[in-house]
Amino acid sequence: MHSDREIVTIDGSAGEGGGQVLRTALALSMVTGKAFRIENIRARRAKPGLARQHLVAVEAAATVSRAFVHGASLGSTQLYFEPVTAVPGNYFFDIGSAGSTSLVIQTLLPAVLFTPGSWQIELVGGTHNPLAPPVDFLQKTFLPLLRCMGARVEIELIRPGFYPAGGGRVILRAEGISRLQPLQLCRRGNFRRRVAWAAVANLPLHIARREVDTLRRLLDLAPSETAVYNWEAYGPGNVVVVELEYENITEVFTGFGERGKPAERVAEEVADQVTRYLATEAPVGEYLADQLLIPLGLVGEGKFCTVPLSSHAQTNMEIIRYFLDVDWEVVRLDDRRHEVRVQGRAGA
Ligand code: AMP
Repeated sequence: MHSDREIVTIDGSAGEGGGQVLRTALALSMVTGKAFRIENIRARRAKPGLARQHLVAVEAAATVSRAFVHGASLGSTQLYFEPVTAVPGNYFFDIGSAGSTSLVIQTLLPAVLFTPGSWQIELVGGTHNPLAPPVDFLQKTFLPLLRCMGARVEIELIRPGFYPAGGGRVILRAEGISRLQPLQLCRRGNFRRRVAWAAVANLPLHIARREVDTLRRLLDLAPSETAVYNWEAYGPGNVVVVELEYENITEVFTGFGERGKPAERVAEEVADQVTRYLATEAPVGEYLADQLLIPLGLVGEGKFCTVPLSSHAQTNMEIIRYFLDVDWEVVRLDDRRHEVRVQGRAGA
């Protein structure tokens, strides 16, 4: 451990107080080289401390950045993380459960994007998990915006993985570069197309059909705008997705089948998310907003227009400021639209 370097100290119970605080800290520590100490990890969750999924994120971040780590054990409420340097190359991480591969990608992505060299990271775990970005969202919503900023990055889905069986497989490939261009995303642009689909794995196909029929009725879709899929996966699973594609953005809305929850209800909840998005003109939806803050902060310039910010997004802004010399400005345009602007020096 080097005692002479700057150590960022974070109270993990601040703001939203969940896993995001830890993931953002790991991600930015790897990019900036700043060590951090976090206390009261996930203090606001029913089971505080590091869960298996967070440990995998810590271990993956430590492997990629050759970090010195203290406190990385199940249930630990404190962690010290000191990166050496992010090293491009080929990596493989098995989450060993249905833990979300996307949340590990979220942790590693900034280091991958901003460290020049070729990266290939293969992950095994959940690819379609509630409370995490489904791989479709990363592929169709998030990565295309990073590519607009100049990033060379893609994700391939090899096999889907659902809770609880997991066993999904994705590969992240990227060519890191030292600087990205600022993003300005204030308008959706012209509407291009929409598609609603449902997939089942090891469950009857009529579940997916009923979900798509419900979406067709509620969103007034043509049959050509819908699809049902029968996926191969290790265990049962069901996902419902609506994609709205505009000139400047594709937003992806997702719902998951649950035992005891009628397929129609799952589809109705996805239709609700879509209807709420269509009731505003903001291009950036709630989830995308918290995820865009990190690349925006690292570039230190740019703005986007979004729905009112979630507590996740507000917490992310605070944590980013521990690592990067940036100022956030949030301007309320109307009841349903806020503009987020960032100004500062790139910390990378
Ligand atoms: P946490 O709740 O702290 O573990 O963080 C969850 C992360 O997953 C946040 O970055 C959310 O934006 C993201 N997320 C959750 N649900 C979705 C969804 N349906 N689509 C896209 N991203 C999501």
